[in-house]
Amino acid sequence: MSPILDEKVEPLYQEILRRNPGEEEFHQAVREVLETLGPVLAKRPEFVEAKLIERIAEPERQVIFRVPWTDDSGEVHVNRGFRVEFNSALGPYKGGLRFHPSVNLGIVKFLGFEQIFKNALTGMPIGGGKGGSDFDPKGRSDAEIMRFCQSFMTELYRHLGEYTDVPAGDIGVGGREIGYLFGQYKRITNRYESGVLTGKGLSWGGSRVRTEATGYGCVLFTAEMLRMRDQDLEGKRVAVSGSGNVAIYAIEKARQLGATVVTASDSAGYVVDEKGIDLDLLKQIKEVERGRVADYAERRGADARYVPGGRVWEVPCDVALPCATQNELTAADARTLVGNGVQAVAEGANMPTTPEGVRVFQEAGVAFGPGKAANAGGVATSALEMQQNASRDSWSFGYTEERLTAVMRHIHDSCHSTAELYDRPGNYVVGANIAGFEQVAEAMLA
Ligand code: GLU
Repeated sequence: MSPILDEKVEPLYQEILRRNPGEEEFHQAVREVLETLGPVLAKRPEFVEAKLIERIAEPERQVIFRVPWTDDSGEVHVNRGFRVEFNSALGPYKGGLRFHPSVNLGIVKFLGFEQIFKNALTGMPIGGGKGGSDFDPKGRSDAEIMRFCQSFMTELYRHLGEYTDVPAGDIGVGGREIGYLFGQYKRITNRYESGVLTGKGLSWGGSRVRTEATGYGCVLFTAEMLRMRDQDLEGKRVAVSGSGNVAIYAIEKARQLGATVVTASDSAGYVVDEKGIDLDLLKQIKEVERGRVADYAERRGADARYVPGGRVWEVPCDVALPCATQNELTAADARTLVGNGVQAVAEGANMPTTPEGVRVFQEAGVAFGPGKAANAGGVATSALEMQQNASRDSWSFGYTEERLTAVMRHIHDSCHSTAELYDRPGNYVVGANIAGFEQVAEAMLA
C-alpha cells in the first residue's frame, strides 16, 4: 500500500486528482513527488503560502493539435499532437517528443512534470516540458515518417523558440525525426535557429555525446551509487531492459566500466546472452535495420537465448537498469530481483518502476536511482548542445563527456546530501525530489 501523504499535502493531492480526471500516470508522478515533500513544506511555510504545489502541478500552457498526414498508398491519417509547456521558472521549456500509440495527455503531463525536477537537478538553465503524438512509427517508411514530422512541425513551430521551448527526442523520436522536424522549422520560419531543437546531427549543430548521453549518464550514476558502498561495476552482471537508444548506450558504458551486460528486450520479448550482449550486432539491428531483439537472438545463434513474452527481470543480476518505458518493473519483478541478489537499480527510462516496486527495493536496502536523477544525462547534454549552439561552437567528444560526467556526479551528490540533510540517508528518491523541488520553488518564489 502507498504511504499516507503528509496532512498538509493530502488535500492538495485530492484537488489535483479532481482537476485532472483519468490521467493515471500523471497522478502517479505527482503523488511520488508529494510523498516526499512534507518535511520541506514544514520547514518553508512561504512555499505553502505562495501555493507552490498547486502552481507546479498546473502546466503553464498545454497545446493539443491535429496532425493530418498521407501514407505511401495515398490514404489520409489523422493523429493528435501534444506539447505541454509545464514550467519555465529556470529556463525555456525543455524536454523530448514521444511518438508512440500509447501517448495521451496524461502520459505527456507525467513526463513533463518529471522533466521539471529532472532538469532542475542538472543545475542547468532549463525549464520543463514534454510533447509527442499517438502516431505509431512502427513499420512506417522514411517518407511516411518525414511527412508526419513535417505536418507535426507545421503546427508546433509557432510555439517553439530558442528562448521559449526547445524539444528533443524521446521514444520513437531519434536523429532521423529531429532532422525532418528541424528541416520543416527552418523552411517555415526562414531562420537557421540551431538552438530550437536538440539531438541534431553532428554536421548541422548537434552535440557529440548527445546520442550516448542518457545511457552513459545512467551508468555513471550507478557507478556513483556503488562508490558510496565501496563498490564499482567491474565484474558485475547487469540486466538492461529495452533496446533503444538509452539501452544501447547504457550497455556500452557498463561494458567500458568492466561489467557484463547479459540482456536486452523489446515489447515482444527479451534475449539473454551469457557472454555479454554483442553491441555491434545490436546496433546494426536496431540503429541501421530498425529490427527487433528476436532478430538479434537469431543472428547470434547458440550464445543467445530468446524468451518471447517473458519478463527480463527473471534473469539474475547484480545491477538492473530499466531502460524501456513507464511501469515496466512491478513489485513482483522487484521481489524476483531482490531474491536473486540485486544490489543496485538505476532508471534509464522515465518512471519504469511502479511505486510498489520502488518500495520493495528500498525496504531490501538496494541502492535505487530514480529516473529524474539517473536518466538526466540526456537532457543535460541537450543543455550542452544549446550552449554550443548559442556560442556557435562545437566541442570534442572527450570534453563533452567530461562535462556530462561532472553533471552526473553533481546530481548524485546533491541527491545524496539532500537525503542526508532530511534524515533519509541513502534515499535517492527523497534526495532527488527535494533537491529538484527546492530549486524550482526558490525560482518561482523569487
Ligand atoms: N527525452 C529525454 C528525457 O526524458 C531527453 C529530453 C531532452 O533532451 O530535452 O529527459
